[in-house]
Amino acid sequence: MSSFKAVLIDKNSERYGAAYVDLDDASLMPGDVDLDVLYSAINYKDGLAVTGKGPVVRRFPMIPGVDLVGRVTRSTHKGFASGDIVVATGCGVGEAHYGGFAQKARLSGDWLVKLPDSLTPARAMTVGTAGLTAMFCMLALERHGARPQDGLAVVSGASGGVGSFAVALLAKAGWRVAAITGHAAEAEYLRSIGASEIFAREDFSQAGKALQSQRFAAGIDTVGGVTLANLLSQTQFDGAIAACGNVGGMDLPASVAPFILRGVSLIGVESVRPRIALRREAWARIATDLDAAMIDAMCEIIPFDQALERARTIVAGKIRGRVVIEMP
Ligand code: NDP
Repeated sequence: MSSFKAVLIDKNSERYGAAYVDLDDASLMPGDVDLDVLYSAINYKDGLAVTGKGPVVRRFPMIPGVDLVGRVTRSTHKGFASGDIVVATGCGVGEAHYGGFAQKARLSGDWLVKLPDSLTPARAMTVGTAGLTAMFCMLALERHGARPQDGLAVVSGASGGVGSFAVALLAKAGWRVAAITGHAAEAEYLRSIGASEIFAREDFSQAGKALQSQRFAAGIDTVGGVTLANLLSQTQFDGAIAACGNVGGMDLPASVAPFILRGVSLIGVESVRPRIALRREAWARIATDLDAAMIDAMCEIIPFDQALERARTIVAGKIRGRVVIEMP
């Protein structure tokens, strides 16, 4: 039996803590695919998990890490064989099932997608849940029938992880993209990844009229709250907004007017459930649509022994772009 290094979160009545430990293979949770983890990444959820600042972990002890890329070492799942490079995001990994902050993982093959050849493991982890969620939003807009020739697409929380990928993906698909940001200093960065117009966050953060000037044909909203209500009020006839986030609030103080008087659609997007066909489609599109240089520009690679400390800092808003963890 071999041992491996992992970050383990545990709690008892007095203490909630995370630490590096040595585990053996027998401690892995059930699954039909064993992996050597090549890379993981630090998501906001991982920060909440290691600090205990949010109820992310649903079973103790737990290895955090909602995203991982690994090489298959054993598989009884018909879809995978030894040597395959696979990616896992969401599906309860790092929350209810041991996740990516470890040298080894044992997962259900139903949660895995083979990495497209053109995407390196490190780039796949840079994309991770953030990029996948942005792609789910774009696919939802496409299914709605939204097309670049219909007008302007808007992205809120544009300089964040999901927002940055949303801007880049929409621009690559041919949309003119308006990026809403609270950081004027990020304007140059946002233009470099494809934004054609920059709007100030404050222009969308006060409650407005139920129907406002029609500015947007489509949108990806990571903010929620009043911002989402304003985006709906400014969406043109038959337009659609894909909503995936709540950094600005869980509420939605909106009117039905955009829906019933302009036929506007609000499409909810979540990235955690294992809808494998949609995941395969999304990863294939990411591999073809995202520019490698742009992905690299968003990525900082750190060694595994810094993962725990850096995961603690993400909840304090001290991480920009994507921090990818390289396993020893
Ligand atoms: P980040 O922290 O990387 O980015 C969020 C961005 O939102 C910030 O960079 C900032 O961008 C903007 N922002 C921050 N605070 C506020 C505020 N109070 N009001 C308005 N804008 C604000 O987060 P992610 O991109 O990783 O995630 C974004 C959201 O999407 C989160 O709510 C997250 O939980 C959610 N999410 C949902 C998923 C799903 O399955 N539905 C999956 C992944 C994420 P700027 O400075 O440019 O304004």
